[in-house]
Amino acid sequence: MNAVAMITGASRGIGRGIALELAKIGYDLIVNYAGNAAAARQTAADCLAAAQAAGRNVRVEVCQADIAKDADRRKLIEFAKTTLGRLDLLVNNAGVAPEVRADILEASEESFDRLIAINLKGPYFLTQLAARWMIAQGQADIPPANYRPRIVTISSVSAYTASVNRGDYCLSKAGLSMLTALYAARLAEYGILVYELRPGIIGTDMTGPVKEKYDQLIEAGLTPIPRWGTPEDVGRAVAAIAQDLLPFSTGEVINVDGGFHLRRL
Ligand code: NAP
Repeated sequence: MNAVAMITGASRGIGRGIALELAKIGYDLIVNYAGNAAAARQTAADCLAAAQAAGRNVRVEVCQADIAKDADRRKLIEFAKTTLGRLDLLVNNAGVAPEVRADILEASEESFDRLIAINLKGPYFLTQLAARWMIAQGQADIPPANYRPRIVTISSVSAYTASVNRGDYCLSKAGLSMLTALYAARLAEYGILVYELRPGIIGTDMTGPVKEKYDQLIEAGLTPIPRWGTPEDVGRAVAAIAQDLLPFSTGEVINVDGGFHLRRL
C-alpha cells in the first residue's frame, strides 16, 4: 500500500510541481484545487504518467475545496478518508497574492481578510484536522504500513522580507512560520514531523504579472544562484522530506530560494 500525500492548490504552479515529484517516488495523491477543475484533472493525468514512467503504480484523486472555508476543509479530509484511506503527508501549499499590490498606507481590510483566510487560517485549521487524523492513525491497533506522518507548509521569503506593497501577503506568510513552530512542538511526541519550505522567486501564474521586474532583479544579482526557481525545485525539496531524509529534524525551515536569504557584503 502506497503512502498518501494531500497537496492543497495542486492544480497549478508549485503545488502541481510537488504532486509530480511525489508521484514519481510512489505516493498516492489527493490533488486539491479551488476553482480550476480542468487544471486539476490535467495535474492528475500528468502525475499518473510521471509515476508510470518512473516505474510506480499510484492512485490520484482530485478534490475541490476552498481551504479558507471550514466546511470545505472537513470535506477534503473526509474525501481522503473515503478514497485513499490514510494520510502520510499534508502539504499546505495553496495560497494567493493580493489582487492589487497596494502600499500599506492605502491597502484595504478586505484584501487583508482574504489573504489571511486563504493563506493562514486555512492551513492552520486544515493542519489541525490532518494532525488529529494522523495521531489516530498512529495510535490505531494496526497503524498503516511504514507510517511516518509529515506536514510541510509552503511559506515564502515574504515570511521575513518586507514588501511594503503587499503587507497582507507578508503577514500571512510570517504567520505560517509560527504555524510550523507550533505544530512541530505539539506533534513531535506522536512522531509527526513538521517543516516549513520557503520558496524564493518561482515561475508560476502567481509571478506572471511581475516577470519583467524579477527578470531584471535576477539579472542584477538578487539571488546568488542567478535564475528563476521552478515548481520542480520546490517539489524535489518536498520529496526529500517525503522520503524521510530528515528524520531527526522538525520545525526546520528549508530555503528553496537560490540563496536569496544570504546576507552579502
Ligand atoms: P499559483 O500558480 O497561483 O497557484 C495557486 C494554487 O492554489 C492553485 O492550484 C489554486 O487553485 C490554489 N488555490 C488558490 N486559492 C485556493 C483556495 N482558497 N483553496 C484551495 N486552493 C486554492 O501559485 P504558486 O505560485 O504556485 O504558489 C503556491 C504557493 O507557493 C502559495 O502559497 C504561494 O504563496 C507560495 N509561494 C509562491 C512563490 C512564487 O514565486 N510563485 C514564492 C514563494 C511562495 P485553482 O487552480 O483552482 O485556482
